[in-house]
Amino acid sequence: MRYLSTRGQTEPVSFSEAVAIGLAPDGGLFLPEKVPDLSGRLAAWQGLGYADLCAEFLGVFATDIAPDVLRGLVHRAYRGFSHPEIAPLRQLDERLHVLELFHGPTLAFKDFALQVLGNLYQHQCERRGEGINVLGATSGDTGAAAIHGLLGKPRTAIFILYPDGRVSPLQERQMTCTGADNVHALAVDGSFDDAQRVLKEVFGDQPFAARHRLSAVNSINLARILAQCVYYLHAWLRLPAAERAEVEFVVPTGNFGNVFAGWLLSRMGVAVRGFKVATNRNDILHRLFTTAEYRSGEVHPSLAPSMDIQVASNFERFLYYALDEQPTRVRGVMAQIKATGSYRFDVLNQSTFSSSRCSDEEITGLIRRVHQRYRYTVDPHTACAFKDLNPRRVSIVLATAHPAKFPDAIRAATGEEPTHPTLEALKGRPIVKHRLPAEAAAIKAFLEQRAV
Ligand SMILES: *Cc1c(COP(=O)(O)O)cnc(C)c1O
Repeated sequence: MRYLSTRGQTEPVSFSEAVAIGLAPDGGLFLPEKVPDLSGRLAAWQGLGYADLCAEFLGVFATDIAPDVLRGLVHRAYRGFSHPEIAPLRQLDERLHVLELFHGPTLAFKDFALQVLGNLYQHQCERRGEGINVLGATSGDTGAAAIHGLLGKPRTAIFILYPDGRVSPLQERQMTCTGADNVHALAVDGSFDDAQRVLKEVFGDQPFAARHRLSAVNSINLARILAQCVYYLHAWLRLPAAERAEVEFVVPTGNFGNVFAGWLLSRMGVAVRGFKVATNRNDILHRLFTTAEYRSGEVHPSLAPSMDIQVASNFERFLYYALDEQPTRVRGVMAQIKATGSYRFDVLNQSTFSSSRCSDEEITGLIRRVHQRYRYTVDPHTACAFKDLNPRRVSIVLATAHPAKFPDAIRAATGEEPTHPTLEALKGRPIVKHRLPAEAAAIKAFLEQRAV
């Protein structure tokens, strides 16, 4: 199978190339040439464990990787998860389920994709016989998950820039207490935007980027989307057959990567009722699905910080299908969004998507209500999904982070402080971070010394 750019000005590439390049050279995002129909295979996949299902599913897409190699790297990816089912489905009520996606090494759903991506990078290094230096900027969860995807892997190094003093103490510990030689946490003197700007400058020096074989870790890599399809499928296969086509997945959403993966899966012959996009006060996607207008706004900090975005970077993939797979139209709309900050759809398929928006006060109220009603604790991101749940509908709420990552918000709502052994263990370990000015020259000098 080959992969096309949403903007149509890149020659089709293989799976491994699409993963290695990340962003297509024409500025677009990669998608499969043709969305496969999996309906004939679902019965055979019914009883598979998580890693086996993932290997089968990715095998449909990663056609340039030998099946046994793929199986091996997928199994290694999920070995570090602390729950035997990897993504357990918990039933809270007759029609209400929670899909727990926080049993990975950094206790957030990003581990599902980044553990696989780390192993894909390693496989590429082995195949090409050369090292890779992965670089990213983070305001929290992605950096930690990316670091844990590459932790201790030979011939790889990872450099994560984050704004010094502006990520939560636990998030900082997840990035800085790893004890691994190939992990470099760079605490930049400035904001997240400064860190991102510096990162762009470093990549903009193409001879430098090529010499050090730099690769960007970000939310648009094709492998991340495909790895995320798997937990939807795994959950769907565990529902009673009569409920499958009725289920609505409710997804705490920021960059639209997670919910897009579910929607893409539903185009592969996995029938569902639909998807509900749950946003916090940064509601660009809620406004999109209620008014058919995509208009970016100002970002406001919230209790669910990993959803504090006002430009959904995976939105272009959805746009591609909404515009009948016509790259010329995608280019036109993206140019318009760039110029004016907005785009209004003539028709938008609202039967598949619904949405909700949640203020900080509502997040606190929902954590409390869920705790009282079900004796179950949800983190502030997951709490957004409980807004206006339809009790008559079969719902699967995606729990995107473990509540112990947000002890202050949970204590304020319930009076109890959740803990997790992984986080407790971090508290005794030394912090290793490098404070650097928000300047490309300083970052490059650091890379010169530590790159593999
Ligand atoms: C990243 C993240 C989200 C948002 O996911 P998107 O794929 O960006 O929509 C939601 N919750 C948590 C805990 C996250 O880390």
